[in-house]
Amino acid sequence: MKFKSITGTKDILPPESSKWHLVEEKLRSIFEAYNYSEIRTPLFEETALFARGIGQNTDIVGKEMYTFQDKGGDSLTLRPEMTASVIRSFIQHNIGNDSPLSKFYYIGPVFRQERPQAGRFRQFHQFGIEALGSQHPSIDAEIISVAVDVYNAFEVLDYELKINSIGCPVCRTSYKEILKSELMKVIDRLTAESQKRVELNPLRVLDSKDERDREATQNAPLLLNYLCQECSDHFEKVKNFLDELEVKYTVDGRIVRGLDYYTKTAFEVITKSLGSQDALAGGGRYDLLTEELGGKPTFGIGFASGMERLMLMLEKSENKIFSEPTKSVFIVSVDDFSRPKSLKFANMLRRDGISADMDFNSRSVKAQFREANRKNARIVIVVSKDDYDRGELTLKNMTTGEQAIVKITALTEEINKI
Ligand code: AMP
Repeated sequence: MKFKSITGTKDILPPESSKWHLVEEKLRSIFEAYNYSEIRTPLFEETALFARGIGQNTDIVGKEMYTFQDKGGDSLTLRPEMTASVIRSFIQHNIGNDSPLSKFYYIGPVFRQERPQAGRFRQFHQFGIEALGSQHPSIDAEIISVAVDVYNAFEVLDYELKINSIGCPVCRTSYKEILKSELMKVIDRLTAESQKRVELNPLRVLDSKDERDREATQNAPLLLNYLCQECSDHFEKVKNFLDELEVKYTVDGRIVRGLDYYTKTAFEVITKSLGSQDALAGGGRYDLLTEELGGKPTFGIGFASGMERLMLMLEKSENKIFSEPTKSVFIVSVDDFSRPKSLKFANMLRRDGISADMDFNSRSVKAQFREANRKNARIVIVVSKDDYDRGELTLKNMTTGEQAIVKITALTEEINKI
């Protein structure tokens, strides 16, 4: 019997995995520059956490969660996103008591039983940040600017930032009634999916991608025009901060996000380069969530981005982050005498922080050079008895083809010069 990975999941194999490392490293350095610290939460949680934190009427909770009963009879779920877990952890460890503002970032796998297609997986990876403890519009602007900084830092420029305000319970409740009654007038022209949403989650009808829904709702009232004074002022200030930061955006009254706990600022980063899976990142404010999950009322805002989609964008642009050569060394042994010496040199270089590898199959010198090329080694060291007896080695720069005899005692130094 041959086993295969589960539909919608994939192996990340070398050399792809090295690219993931490079990208993750860069993400970490961006988040840390903004003073966000990493949080790692478990891959599974109580089902109720997500049902409550994400909302019963969302696609995620309604149909996409991997939920199972463990042997003790508890209902558990593989995390379909990270925010609920971060908040659960924040509450559990009383983190809010330590500092008025807590800033976290995460990178890790999440699970959703969606229909797999290009750019859409069942196990995929999200990176993102959350800031807990401030209601000031400046933090909204910071979060949004980190989201776009990520794409700018990777020179992914074919994206668009869309922002909106989805108000608060005060303005949203009355608006929902207005929207519902307008949607009822065109209900026959909506798709079956949207018809179902009119009652339970009418805002979602507005962000349907289906042409029929778009057409039927083109004159629908937008929440943006029904905001209460506080939400409206907040949105104006967020825009002013973004202008100050020279972050380009368009205001799109149809960005609603799928999740119930969002308040005020909502935003998406989208691209035209990935076909129908056009969302790169999404985020927003969730001032009601911490209380909803049993904590003290705490303001919060964050975003989540898809790692696979960022990788697809980087592949398309042949990003130079991947072409910067690494200083890897391959050691070629000319004779049996040299093999143990090669191993010793490899270990010596590794301890000096240089990546080194060698042949472990007693192959010919030619085959060893082929292997060095296959492994993209930048430098080859050739070890032979004659050279060794003189305290020397041959060093070949594989980029330029130049070759030189160097002293064994100066090996690391010579390599570092290349
Ligand atoms: P969401 O939590 O749905 O707002 O998703 C945040 C980001 O995760 C999206 O903007 C996408 O980049 C990515 N994403 C969402 N669902 C998937 C999926 N099934 N496969 C791959 N990436 C996804």
